[in-house]
Amino acid sequence: MTALLSVEGLRLGYARADVVHGIGLAVQRGSIVSLIGSNGAGKTTILRSLSGLMKPRAGSVRWSHGETVEIAGEAAHRIARRGIVQVPEGRQVFANMTVAENLRLGAYHVATPEAARRQEAVVARFPRLGERLRQQAGYLSGGEQQMLAMGRALMAEPVLLLLDEPSMGLAPLIVEEIFAIIASLRAEGRTILLVEQNASAALAIADYAYVLETGRIRLQGEAAEVARNPEVTAAYLGV
Ligand code: ATP
Repeated sequence: MTALLSVEGLRLGYARADVVHGIGLAVQRGSIVSLIGSNGAGKTTILRSLSGLMKPRAGSVRWSHGETVEIAGEAAHRIARRGIVQVPEGRQVFANMTVAENLRLGAYHVATPEAARRQEAVVARFPRLGERLRQQAGYLSGGEQQMLAMGRALMAEPVLLLLDEPSMGLAPLIVEEIFAIIASLRAEGRTILLVEQNASAALAIADYAYVLETGRIRLQGEAAEVARNPEVTAAYLGV
């Protein structure tokens, strides 16, 4: 089966330093793939390159939604139009704008009636956002801001969602709630690439997983298998 997203030999860096040294990964349609690894391993850098925020130094990124196209180095807005949408680390909602205005930004390219239809779907999934549509996003709790960041991405009706550390800074109960929502997105046929430092939560929800160490894939496999790997349990699962 052709993967929805297929990465080969991806090399990324800042200034003179390479931080990702020619990695490969594949994301099957309708799956959740987790990319785990410690602080500074290069996870965020990989997501930024996939969404077009950073140009790869080498490598190929193939997107197979309909025909297969090479998208490495394409501009961020073109990649977003293809259906690849990132939810950034730290949410990055616009604090001085209302919840509704933040949501509208996720679908800036569609006409207002269509955006309204999409907003209804997002609010059905995140009822708490519905209660706060006219409030400034800066007043939301951390969990609500994460929901808003995900809701804003869903406004674009993405094929592939790139989630960067959705659990960051959130209480365990909220993390559970967010992860249940991520699972429900897969159940609806969306595909998810999930970057997490919370390895146990990420492996529990994922179908397949990659462990990244200092810019290289250290190991990969079915998520349940990766979760049982002694190196992973020792280094990332706090066992
Ligand atoms: P974290 O969970 O802390 O975000 P990460 O696995 O996502 O970790 P990256 O943020 O991708 O890691 O960082 C990978 C490496 O690139 C780190 O050594 C980091 O210091 C470096 N780096 C990240 N952003 C920049 C930047 N803008 N300029 C220079 N170096 C950077």
